[in-house]
Amino acid sequence: MDLVIARPEGLYCPAGDFYIDPWRPVERSVITHAHGDHARTGNQHYLAAAPGEGILRSRLGQDINLQTLAYGERLLHHGVTLSFHPAGHVLGSAQVRLEYGGEVWVASGDYKIEPDGTCAPFEPVRCHTFITESTFGLPIYRWQPQAEIFAEINQWWQANAAVDKTSVLFCYSFGKAQRILHGIDASLGPILTHGAVEPLNRVYRESGVYIPPTIYAGDVKKSDPVMRKALVIAPPSAGGSTWMRRFGDYSDGFASGWMRLRGTRRRRGVDRGFILSDHADWPGLLWAIGQTGAERVMVTHGSVAVLVRHLREQGLDAQGFSTEYGDDEEEATSAEAQSPEVPA
Ligand SMILES: [Zn+2]
Ligand SMILES: [Zn+2]
Repeated sequence: MDLVIARPEGLYCPAGDFYIDPWRPVERSVITHAHGDHARTGNQHYLAAAPGEGILRSRLGQDINLQTLAYGERLLHHGVTLSFHPAGHVLGSAQVRLEYGGEVWVASGDYKIEPDGTCAPFEPVRCHTFITESTFGLPIYRWQPQAEIFAEINQWWQANAAVDKTSVLFCYSFGKAQRILHGIDASLGPILTHGAVEPLNRVYRESGVYIPPTIYAGDVKKSDPVMRKALVIAPPSAGGSTWMRRFGDYSDGFASGWMRLRGTRRRRGVDRGFILSDHADWPGLLWAIGQTGAERVMVTHGSVAVLVRHLREQGLDAQGFSTEYGDDEEEATSAEAQSPEVPA
């Protein structure tokens, strides 16, 4: 019997009678991480890794019925032993390990291999069946070390500041924004943030992750000289909006794994593209899958067909698993678009 099956509500564990990252409201949900397409409102119960509690409550409501487990802590539910293991994707992100009748399954959620200092690094977990994402599951996706990308961002910011131009960097407001803030050289100038970013910065800081001091952009007047030297971190949805009118002369950039694709930057209409992803690249996916020792691999959201074909060629029992997870690199999800722009 399969430990996890696809149901209209989401990935379902029949033995334990719960869902993993359901996309429709259910009684019992197990949440891998707080991105809007994986953690949705309306579930009766939530179970998640403890480091994700602050983010989940800030996004889904302080009053959700949430139980948490430390990474590695085990919970026995209807005979299924469940535990969370770091996925290295965003603060609190976890792979879900399920064990039942000697069978071990791991559902990865979203994951990233390179440790970034803003969340617990990815830990491979041995299993019989591995459910993997495939957001960047094509051989063209091979990330440069993040230090090189941060150096590019620093240089761009410095060059703009030298000619009194504001640097506006668009990125996903949960995870990517904090990773960039953590990784850049904050001594180069003032850092301003959009109202969708600042509440998440606060949760990261409260969790002990170093985020340099930031200024809420809404509090800064257009005439303020601080603008000229500033780096502004804003969600993609702010681009082209009236919110941008507060900046005079500026250069804009976009940080995403999709910047690897020729044409993405131009379509976005931004001056610079920075290739920085919170997901595993092609070698990372293959490495992670290999580390699990799984003979069976279920592939969810992304380049499903290509990864499935490749794994089958390697002799693995691979198949696609249809889900309704979105893409947290591409554009603001509805949840993010709805984030009120309020001072933190
Ligand atoms: Zn995600
Ligand atoms: Zn995802």
